[in-house]
Amino acid sequence: MLERCVYTGCDNSRRTRGLCHGHYQVLRTYIRQGKTTEAEQEQKGLLMPKGTGQGRVPAGHGDFLDPGATGDAK
Ligand SMILES: [Zn+2]
Repeated sequence: MLERCVYTGCDNSRRTRGLCHGHYQVLRTYIRQGKTTEAEQEQKGLLMPKGTGQGRVPAGHGDFLDPGATGDAK
């Protein structure tokens, strides 16, 4: 079963770092414009740390900010 985008209310499937393609593109745009940072979004749980794969950890929990936990999920 595919996980959904971590963005609240978005029903698209995850593509990149917990976000659907559209939301990831928007986030990248914001980061490029200096409106936010990857670290800030990771803290909010809206962006998975690099290298954790796609849709392997539950959304809405701090779990996916823990590299050890995501390693076990593989
Ligand atoms: Zn989305």
